[in-house]
Amino acid sequence: MFPPPYKIKAVEPIECPSQEERQDILKSAHYNTFLLPSSKVYLDFLTDSGTTAMSDFQWAGLMMGDEAYAGSLNFEHLEQCIRDIFGYRYIVPTHQGRGAEHILSQLTIRKGDIVPGNMYFTTTKIHQELAGGEFSDIIIDEAHDPSSEHPFKGNVDFKKCEALIKKHTPQKISYISHEACVNMAGGQPFSLENLRELRELTNHYKIKIYLDATRIVENAHFIKVREKGYEKYPLVSIIREICSLTDGCTMSAKKDGLVNIGGFLAMNDEELFTQAKAMVVIYEGLHTYGGLAGRDLEAMARGLYEAATDERIVAHRIQQVQEFGKSLLKADIPIVKPIGGHGVFLDAKRFLPHLSQDMFPAQTLTAEIYLECAVRAMERGIVSAGRNPKTGENYHPSLELVRLTIPRRVYTQEHLEYAAQGIGQVFQRRNKIRGLKMTFEPKQLRFFQAHFEPLR
Ligand SMILES: *Cc1c(COP(=O)(O)O)cnc(C)c1O
Repeated sequence: MFPPPYKIKAVEPIECPSQEERQDILKSAHYNTFLLPSSKVYLDFLTDSGTTAMSDFQWAGLMMGDEAYAGSLNFEHLEQCIRDIFGYRYIVPTHQGRGAEHILSQLTIRKGDIVPGNMYFTTTKIHQELAGGEFSDIIIDEAHDPSSEHPFKGNVDFKKCEALIKKHTPQKISYISHEACVNMAGGQPFSLENLRELRELTNHYKIKIYLDATRIVENAHFIKVREKGYEKYPLVSIIREICSLTDGCTMSAKKDGLVNIGGFLAMNDEELFTQAKAMVVIYEGLHTYGGLAGRDLEAMARGLYEAATDERIVAHRIQQVQEFGKSLLKADIPIVKPIGGHGVFLDAKRFLPHLSQDMFPAQTLTAEIYLECAVRAMERGIVSAGRNPKTGENYHPSLELVRLTIPRRVYTQEHLEYAAQGIGQVFQRRNKIRGLKMTFEPKQLRFFQAHFEPLR
């Protein structure tokens, strides 16, 4: 293992509530880890979104905020940075990733359209549906098999893709929604070879590809270490190459961008840019700040440069995740393999085989992990998948996972060892664990606010 490429300049005290306290807190949070107060969480692995520790260079950038309403200098920095690193021509800042998804979906999806993608992401899919589209999964089958060790589980299956295009006609396909380091599959990358072939296929049918670039740095890292011929490429060149094979991207900079808030939409098409600028002023803010303060734009520009050019940052982060996963594997705990980029995903179906999917095994496991060690994880299974908007039936995704996401530059090796031990304790008593029932269900994105109760 190589040591972190940083040292710690400021610390934030954390406390671990007692066992009894945890029981009460979990009950008042309705067994939903999204409803836990952060002050009652010891280690927070809920998400790596916006939870990054910024560098001193980024913090210094906050003091350089140009808070002019229009034409802020920090926007110019951001625009330059995205042109340098990603290579797209036009940039529209948004408050975070879903702001960009909203604008892209509204402008490019017509009612009744199909939006093929390499597995769904929650906010991406809902924006596609709200715009009248229907998401259709074209990821390779291996992505749905938590035990498959395919190195590029984020790849597209061209047979599935072409069959969809032929069935619906190219005119009915809004675009291909292509995600880097596919979150819901466990942080699994696509290969450049696969993307290049997808580009050829879509060129043939004149279909656009929009990248979900949220985890593009991690995807580029995996290409560098796993794909033949890229070992010596700088990360930035790999990122540029990915982007050059797509027509634009949505980005949540709260992940690989190393900031606590921010995102953007980027594209090469001038007409789409004009429309996006007209729309961002309605929903986010003027097209030179997009719902962000000037200082946030500066922190984002600096974070993106740092993430793409200091390659040790992403390498160390991924190593931390890999080591955490390996310590769970050593205890025979079932996890998704290969271990992904941003977190370790427990396979709740194999962890709790005695619970049917309608007893919310992954949700149950997040509650048990909190009870055991005050570590907060996230459900990524039947609750997150929601219901089919047409039939009202629950989707039953093949993956029923608990995601333990590691915030960037926040926790030490000892923290991760503590969490692995706690999860090991839960595994020891797994046979005694009972499931949950849902007692309150929000209409959209139910996993954020749903309530549960233990089954008797
Ligand atoms: C987080 C995320 C989003 C949404 O971004 P927000 O900043 O949370 O709005 C979209 N796609 C992927 C893959 C993500 O991980």
